[in-house]
Amino acid sequence: MHKKLFIPGPVEVRPDVLEQLSRPMIGHRSKDASALQRRISDNLRKVFFTESEILLSTTSGSGLMEGAIRSCTAKKAAVFSVGAFGKRWYEMAISNNVPADLFEVELGQAITPEMVDKELATGQYDLVAVTHNETSTGVMNPIKEIGEVVKKYPEIVFIVDTVSSAAGTKIEVDNWGIDVCITSSQKALGLPPGLAVCTFSNKAKERAEKVKNRGFYLDLLSLYNFIQKKDYQYPSTPSIPHMHALDYQLDYILNKEGLENRFARHIELAEVVRAWGRKYFELLPEDKYLSNTVTTIKNTRNIDVAALNKELGERGFQISNGYGSLKGKTFRIAHMADCQMEDIQELLSNINDILGLE
Ligand SMILES: *Cc1c(COP(=O)(O)O)cnc(C)c1O
Repeated sequence: MHKKLFIPGPVEVRPDVLEQLSRPMIGHRSKDASALQRRISDNLRKVFFTESEILLSTTSGSGLMEGAIRSCTAKKAAVFSVGAFGKRWYEMAISNNVPADLFEVELGQAITPEMVDKELATGQYDLVAVTHNETSTGVMNPIKEIGEVVKKYPEIVFIVDTVSSAAGTKIEVDNWGIDVCITSSQKALGLPPGLAVCTFSNKAKERAEKVKNRGFYLDLLSLYNFIQKKDYQYPSTPSIPHMHALDYQLDYILNKEGLENRFARHIELAEVVRAWGRKYFELLPEDKYLSNTVTTIKNTRNIDVAALNKELGERGFQISNGYGSLKGKTFRIAHMADCQMEDIQELLSNINDILGLE
């Protein structure tokens, strides 16, 4: 039996989106490929509220995260981490010989603008990396406010991991001063895994021009230069099925559902899950940092999360245990992409039934 996914990626994908993956191939050096890519870029600019160039990569989101920190750090990166995915960015820097410092907070807490200001004031850094929506803890960092601080330091290239939030909650890339904003196909965009997307500002481009060893496949500057020269085609063969599905889904998001409606639906879903979490358990993050796409619930009743998930599985649902050290101590319910209110209500009533909650 198929289990409906309420995990924070990969997400449940609509059948009509899945159908797009089986369309006949087109040549990646054809006019059709250029037109497809151009349409995707124009529509993604609307999703990200940006004028920046859009880059695609046939990797998961981690590919562009690694590419961004390597391609855009000339001096030293300041990585602000609130959990597993923030830390991953630091590990990427170090394993690529990119100088970096890691600043962490306790799990469940957020990065504050003051914290960023304090570190940037030292003048050691020329890049800031932050996670917008930390999928391991359900914390949504105040990127807009952090962006205000970053704007005081013109040298800083600001790169943001919005893998589990972009297209599920409003992210104003240009207003918030984000230079590289990264996401993956398999989270709030509602596609299968296998494609990553980022915005790439002029400032990021100018920085990358000063960085000597940017790698090869994930060199953001070479991707940028290639699509300028070759009319939006890619240096290597991209995942054309994903591009067909993304093109279709962007039309759905922008023209069928509507971007603002999509964001509003995510908040409504989040509020229902939060209310349930507060009624029977507690929420991990503070109220003002709650994620709109995934809710992390403290296991205050000391339930057996694995056993709950097993029983849910028999009924055709799957949620997530806590991540890493939070396993068993928390569990996570994702409400992203094309998840609807009926889906969430059906899930929660099944959980209530299994746990005997009223
Ligand atoms: C899922 C996730 C990633 C990793 O993305 P992949 O597409 O699996 O490489 C990075 N950051 C966040 C916040 C995520 O949720």
